[in-house]
Amino acid sequence: MNIVMMGAQGTGKGTVAGILKQKLNIPHISTGDIFRKNIQEETELGKLATQYIDKGQLVPDEVTNAMVKSRINELDCENGFILDGYPRNIAQAEELDKMLEEKNKKVDYAINLTLEMEEIMSRIINRRICSNSECKEIYNLVSKPTKAPGICDKCGSEIVQRVDDSDSEAVKKRLDTYFSQTAPLIDFYNKKGVVYKVESNKPPKDLAEGIIEFLK
Ligand SMILES: [Zn+2]
Repeated sequence: MNIVMMGAQGTGKGTVAGILKQKLNIPHISTGDIFRKNIQEETELGKLATQYIDKGQLVPDEVTNAMVKSRINELDCENGFILDGYPRNIAQAEELDKMLEEKNKKVDYAINLTLEMEEIMSRIINRRICSNSECKEIYNLVSKPTKAPGICDKCGSEIVQRVDDSDSEAVKKRLDTYFSQTAPLIDFYNKKGVVYKVESNKPPKDLAEGIIEFLK
């Protein structure tokens, strides 16, 4: 079963994908991870990507597509995968279709986690992360506070706000960009009849259970 996960940051997309991976026993492929792996292992694609990143430029679609293609051709993807962070635009979505067609496969579901803009903003602004790089537990001042103020429940380190999350104007701009980019993608998958829309108003575990029920 080939799944594409869609959803703005703050919707719990990554966490839900992680639970689905366990339950469905197929890999969770995040583009961030593929990039890091290729760069770390200094693959040809990794080197190419680094050239753009070092110049502060966006990595072109061809490079991203090639990394995804090589990943989904790995053995553990035989029974499917959960793509997270890809495709980001129609050109990539069409490319993904081509990659899968070569294997007589297709995108079976595009799971779209949705949430009101205001709620997303509140989640991001209130998000706190454990400063211990070994822990990185995520908290929320409103919905998941630490037991002792400012101190990680798991490891006792200080919890901090990511710089990216502290400026509400910047957060809003980032979200606007996300929505303007993904609206056409949702149309694209809607036309294929594969979109499953999930309101992200429950804990990730409950959302994942609901999705699995649907997939059955
Ligand atoms: Zn911690």
